Amino acid sequence: MKRTIAEVILALALIGAGAFGWTNWKSNQSAKGQLTELQAASEEATKAAAEKEAAVKAAEVEMSALRAELAPLEGQAQQLAAVKSAMANGTTLADLEAAYKTQKNLSAERQVGLGALRMLTKGAEDPAAMEAFRKALQLSELGDRKNTICAAQIGLAAAGEKVAIMADCLPKGAKGDKSGHDDKAAAKDGHGKDDGHAKDDGHGKPGSKKAPEKHAVHWGYDGEMGPERWGKEFPTCAKGKSQSPLDIRGPFVKTRTVVTADYKEGQLKMINNGHTIQVNIPPGSKIRIDGVPHELLQFHFHRPSEEKIDGKPMAMVVHFVHKSADGKLAVVGVLLKEGNENPGIKTLWTHMPMEEGPEVTPEGVSFNPANLLPREFDFYSYEGSLTTPPCTEGVRFFILKTPVNVAKEQVAAFPFKRNARPVQELNGREITTN
Ligand SMILES: [Zn+2]
Repeated sequence: MKRTIAEVILALALIGAGAFGWTNWKSNQSAKGQLTELQAASEEATKAAAEKEAAVKAAEVEMSALRAELAPLEGQAQQLAAVKSAMANGTTLADLEAAYKTQKNLSAERQVGLGALRMLTKGAEDPAAMEAFRKALQLSELGDRKNTICAAQIGLAAAGEKVAIMADCLPKGAKGDKSGHDDKAAAKDGHGKDDGHAKDDGHGKPGSKKAPEKHAVHWGYDGEMGPERWGKEFPTCAKGKSQSPLDIRGPFVKTRTVVTADYKEGQLKMINNGHTIQVNIPPGSKIRIDGVPHELLQFHFHRPSEEKIDGKPMAMVVHFVHKSADGKLAVVGVLLKEGNENPGIKTLWTHMPMEEGPEVTPEGVSFNPANLLPREFDFYSYEGSLTTPPCTEGVRFFILKTPVNVAKEQVAAFPFKRNARPVQELNGREITTN
């Protein structure tokens, strides 16, 4: 019996051992599988970590490049902040506006300054800022003051207005931007809509120095930038149907319009804008067209005369550019015929800047534009345009029938050899005469 019990115990022990061994083997197998899986997972993790590290390195490189680019901007932001804080409480602006209020006709440059200060003080949406930029644009186009035109266009764009910015206004090297701006430029007609024209019509080719190096001339009177090409950048020049100048010939329609001039003597201010010699007029001189006053802004010269009478040009023409209170432009043209010396022109030529540059104000020299008018005020009249880009239409022309004299030597001394746009199609317009 004892033996039987011992056998049973032994048998049981053997069974137990077998079970233990099997279990052990089993778990061993499964651990191996887990280990393989773990190894694979760890390899994957290592790979992912390496990728992440590379990405972090690349980001670091990018960051440091950005930081380098940002550094100069930080300086600019600080400068801008300084200007902003100077304007912050509004009294600086109020003070300037009070000073300007006493002046009747603000220059384009002052309008630009006012617009910029208003924008800084009151924010980009300030309607008065936009208005100031608009006025500046209008005035500067009248004078072809490129820097001011640019400032006004950029100001308007900053204020959210859809305005074309001339390619010339963009910083050098901003090629990428340029194409976009060019597209816009095509949609507009020039930088602005109303322009006075005349100021700019001149051209750029004086005797010697006129290589277009110091500034990018955007139009001229010959070659690549000549009148036939103006339409590319200034569509109205090519597509307009009421363009100036004209070859004036009959039949004429009688008009009862009455034009009188009331020009005053004032400080002489002249500018060689690279297209012509222009005299800027202080407020107070005007013509009246059927009683409606049109303020004289400036007058300037073309050689030879842009207008032809019966197919013939004269030696030169003076264009007196006026603007009414509601913005209508009117040009009075006085033809200069070769003959005796013209004393008025003598005064002007003595002080005119031979090189393109800023306005000059010869001290103590005053001038009365009436000195350049003939005694008779008979005219030919028609609806035309600026004779310089952007060739905006809606400009009323009065070409006086009576020319005044200019000496051959005086014509020769004018620094622009040829700054006249060719005559344009009449397109059914009436030419009237009083
Ligand atoms: Zn002109």
